[in-house]
Amino acid sequence: AKSGFVDYDYLIKVVVVGDSGVGKSQLVARFTRNEFTTNSRQTIGVEFATKTIDVNSKKICAQMWDTAGEERYRALASAYYRGAVGVLLVFDVTNARSFKNLAHWLSEIKAYTVDTCQMILVGNKIDLQGNRKISNDQARAFADINDMRYMETSALQCTNVEASFTSLVSDIYQNTI
Ligand code: GDP
Ligand code: MG
Repeated sequence: AKSGFVDYDYLIKVVVVGDSGVGKSQLVARFTRNEFTTNSRQTIGVEFATKTIDVNSKKICAQMWDTAGEERYRALASAYYRGAVGVLLVFDVTNARSFKNLAHWLSEIKAYTVDTCQMILVGNKIDLQGNRKISNDQARAFADINDMRYMETSALQCTNVEASFTSLVSDIYQNTI
């Protein structure tokens, strides 16, 4: 569609999920605005950000939904996932608990999304090399079992952030549009 109001061919909804503190909001900020803030405030409820990217010469406007991982907001879950065609599932490679909790997130994703929903697993904060608790192999094995792509990022150093979102959006384009 091209009019005075929109300049994209497709508008898609992507949700970003994972434990609180893994870097979801910073990944979205880096991807959509090329920003990073060290003292990011906790997300309250839901925030949105959009970015239009080119896939196969189509303009795809990805509307990213970013929410707090806190249980107290979980009442929003079904509304949060409704209509999502992609999920960016994030954990922090320096936080074993955030990796362990992926099983919980997967069951929630399964409960609330359609089967065609595309997923990517993202291990964030790889700049903190000395503090790494989850190896690349360990995360990749988990992603393989659960039929997801795996990529490692640093929102801080701007490593692989664009690549992760773009890879998810092109999977969505190939499989569901
Ligand atoms: P969220 O709760 O998942 O949205 O996490 P935030 O995006 O708010 O990030 C939580 C904390 O981790 C903040 O202090 C960020 O500055 C920090 N953080 C996020 N991404 C990275 C990263 O790639 N590397 C490092 N070192 N810190 C990060
Ligand atoms: Mg947040």
